[in-house]
Amino acid sequence: MPHAPNVDLHCHSLVSDGLLAPTALVDRAVANGVEVLALTDHDELDGLAEARTRADQLGLRFVNGVEVSITWGGITIHIVGLQVDSGHPALRAGLQSIRAGRVVRAGEMAAALSASGIDGSLEGAYRHAEDSAIIGRTHFARFLVERGYARSVGEVFQRYLVKGKPGYVPHQWARLGDALGWIHAAGGIAVIAHPGRYKLDSRGMRRFIAEFRDLGGQGIEVVTGSHTPQQYAQYAALTQEFELLASRGSDFHGPGESRIELGRLPDLPPHLTPVWHDWDL
Ligand code: AMP
Ligand code: MN
Ligand code: MN
Ligand code: MN
Repeated sequence: MPHAPNVDLHCHSLVSDGLLAPTALVDRAVANGVEVLALTDHDELDGLAEARTRADQLGLRFVNGVEVSITWGGITIHIVGLQVDSGHPALRAGLQSIRAGRVVRAGEMAAALSASGIDGSLEGAYRHAEDSAIIGRTHFARFLVERGYARSVGEVFQRYLVKGKPGYVPHQWARLGDALGWIHAAGGIAVIAHPGRYKLDSRGMRRFIAEFRDLGGQGIEVVTGSHTPQQYAQYAALTQEFELLASRGSDFHGPGESRIELGRLPDLPPHLTPVWHDWDL
């Protein structure tokens, strides 16, 4: 590939909180000109086999991925694992423990919403979740839109499902060291997902990146659907400073719900080392 390859290493299928089946997601990626795709469902590997089968049929390079939910310094952070062995027992067990926590949290969210006068949200959210073990805030959001509490999933998050709002409940996800341990045991590469979204000041962000790197973490998503162009530059600088690899991923969830389409992001800044620099593309 002489040009910068169109690599998209972050997206979701309906195995987690995306809207498309893995096959349809791969079809859309190919239609959009993606050349290398990773499916990174939240805390779950079940969509990878279907996506890979379709990618093989269409000649798309496919990379196993997962987006792992962790808690660090009291906030939720997402770590993307790439090139993971989807059969690895430690990774599978770790993700299973996170999914068990999701089910408990869903009950607590429904109780919190009920306390503010919104009933039926547990059943409602589960109706939007293809796999009930991966129940999450997006499924509650789709239910609340359906019931007319907000016009869009984004608006639900602003009004109901974030800290300080009626449907928010605090939750303890995996630990950073555990998540990195599972990803590495499964032969994967760990990347900090959309760092610009976390409520960390610059000291906190540096502490987090340093700890991530010291534990063997390898990369940072620089170009993501969650970042502004200014944040591309900001995280490009941190990636260089900490001598980490750079990743690119849309975080596409589905038509009409995502700002950025599969494969439609700008290229990585040229001075960075891409996370795929030594992959056989
Ligand atoms: P959960 O892992 O269940 O807490 O849900 C997190 C997911 O909610 C993210 O992966 C996004 O898909 C979605 N999400 C979080 N914040 C927002 C937002 N402000 N607008 C739309 N979707 C959001
Ligand atoms: Mn999501
Ligand atoms: Mn995320
Ligand atoms: Mn994501």
